[in-house]
Parts: sequence; structure tokens; C-alpha cells
Amino acid sequence: MKRMLSGIKPTGRVTLGNYIGAIKPFVQFQNEYEMIIFVANLHSMTIYQEPKDLRKNTKDLIALYIAAGLDPEQVTLFLQSDVLEHAQLGWYLGCMVSMGELSRMTQYKSKKLEAEEKGGHIGAGIFNYPSLMNADILMYDPDYVPVGEDQKQHVELARNVAERFNSRYSDTFKLPEPIIPKVGGRIMDLQDPTKKMSKSSPNGKGCIYVLDPINVSKKKILSAVTDSDSHVKFDPENKPGISNLLEIYSIISGKTIEELETMYEGKGYGDFKKDLAEVVGDELQRIQDRYNEVLDGDYLDNILEAGAEKARRIARKKLAKVERKIGITIKK
Ligand code: ATP
Ligand code: MG
Repeated sequence: MKRMLSGIKPTGRVTLGNYIGAIKPFVQFQNEYEMIIFVANLHSMTIYQEPKDLRKNTKDLIALYIAAGLDPEQVTLFLQSDVLEHAQLGWYLGCMVSMGELSRMTQYKSKKLEAEEKGGHIGAGIFNYPSLMNADILMYDPDYVPVGEDQKQHVELARNVAERFNSRYSDTFKLPEPIIPKVGGRIMDLQDPTKKMSKSSPNGKGCIYVLDPINVSKKKILSAVTDSDSHVKFDPENKPGISNLLEIYSIISGKTIEELETMYEGKGYGDFKKDLAEVVGDELQRIQDRYNEVLDGDYLDNILEAGAEKARRIARKKLAKVERKIGITIKK
């Protein structure tokens, strides 16, 4: 069975973008692939997190994965900070990546700009985190890393570093392939469809949160920015707002964009948005019902403990192999 890996940072409330780009696909993949999924809490520290928010966001994220349909028996689900090997491998790999490579990461450039605008200091973690991400990925030799468009560059960096390590020492890491979904890889902000919907974005109005009260998310869809035309047509260049809504509709309903265009031929944006609000509302309601159930008792703690143990078994072996190859250990 091919292996797939992915992580999400607990940096805010989970958005519909995260759900569509990173949670829902896994539920579909779990029967076909061996899935390794972690909450990237070490990465969340690159920007200050209020401790009580971090705790809540972490718990919610795990609960939402399960609520969305991930089967904890089948997948390996864990907190990054529970598997200490990530940070250690991150250090070794960080020594193999250049300052130039790190400064070319577009995520770094935009996060740095964001931090500068807020007037705060820019932590070194914002610069360094792709090398920790290299470790997160390469540790598990995944065949595929499904990511949104925004993370593709990081998977490419991981491939480059893996190649570098393999040729300097000897074959150690598998080169992972990024998988970018054709539809839903980049859900845009509903108020500004030129910007990606992000959980850390300060303006929540254009952002649907999976745990939003259902009437709030419906309202956000009804007031989404579109254009002055009235044709429901997929044209990201000229009609970014409506195209984004079409992508959301397509993923949640399972209908293709063409089917949706035909369905709404001759109808205005009003009908389209009303139906989409219902479709999204129903999906979120189903997740929220299950979310409330899984928060009960020690269920999540037990899942995380078992998940970390499974992940550690792989991580320990890999780290030991790396340490033998680089000569840092004197053990055979
Ligand atoms: P942050 O603003 O803190 O970076 P984020 O919303 O971008 O938060 P991440 O934790 O960076 O979320 O990414 C988690 C996963 O969700 C990644 O696989 C990423 O590619 C995917 N993702 C994030 N935003 C979107 C989006 N708008 N559309 C589709 N996928 C997304
Ligand atoms: Mg992001």
C-alpha cells in the first residue's frame, strides 16, 4: 500500500479551506493508502499562540479529523510534539539546506511581510520551519504528500534535500511526490477572492469556520463577493468570486463544475448561493454533530497516545539510520 502524509497547524479555527484542501480528501484516501496525519503544533509556534487557544485549537483539530470521518484505527494520527524525533531530524536536515533556499520560500516571504505589518518581531522559526517540515515528511518515506497549492514549494524543497542527503551519504530517504487536487487546492476568501482562505487571517467574514454556527456560515455564503454579471460560469481570471463558490459547491456536493454550470444556466447568483448555503450547511451540521460526540471522555487522548506510539516506531528507526550514516553515533 502506498503511503501518504500530511499535517495541519493548530493556528486558529479550522476553515472550510482546510477542510476541503486537507481533511476531506484524507477521508476519501484512507481506504486506498496508508495515511500518516499529524497536528503540526511545533510549526504553530512560529507565530505567538495564546496557550489556551492553542490547547483548544489542537483538540478541535483532532476532533474534526475524526468527525469528518477519519478512522483512528486505520490511520496514524498524532501530535508532532509527541514524537521528539521530528525536532532532531529537523536539526540535521536544517544543516543541509541553504539560507538562499529558505529565503526563496514564498510562504516565508508572505509570513514575514505579515509579521512586519503587525509590527511584531519576526521569529527565526518563520525562516527555519521548512527544514522542520522536511524532517516531518522525510521521516516517514511517504510516496505522496497531498497539499494545497501554497505548500507545493515546501514538498519540492523536501525532495531536493532528500536527494542531497542520499547522494552525500547513501540512499536513505524516499523522494515524495506532492499531490495537488485539481479542484479545491486553493479555496479563496469569500470577501476577497484574490486571497487564500486562511485560519490565521484576521478578518473572519470571508472565512467559513467548520465550527461556525450553521446560520453564520450560510450568511457568509449569501454575502460572498461576486461580480456584476449574473452567469454562473467557472472563470477564475474574470470571475474569481463565483469560480471559488463553484469549487466549494463541486467538492461538497460531488457534482462536477460543468454539471453545476448547466444546473444554474439561466438562473441568477441568488438561487445559486442559496442552494450552496444549504449544501455547505448540511455538511457542516453532520460534522458538528459528530464533533460533539468525540469530545466526550478520554477518547481523543487515547487516540493520540496510540497514534504517537505508532509514529515513534517508524521515526526511531529512521533517525537511528540517519545517525549511523552521518557518523554522529558510535553505535553500529
Ligand atoms: P495559516 O494561515 O496558519 O497558514 P492555513 O489555513 O493556511 O493556516 P495550514 O495549517 O497552513 O492552514 O495548512 C493546512 C493544510 O490545509 C495544508 O495542506 C494546506 O495546503 C491546506 N490549505 C490551507 N488553506 C487552504 C485553502 N484555502 N484551500 C485549500 N487548502 C488549503
Ligand atoms: Mg498556511
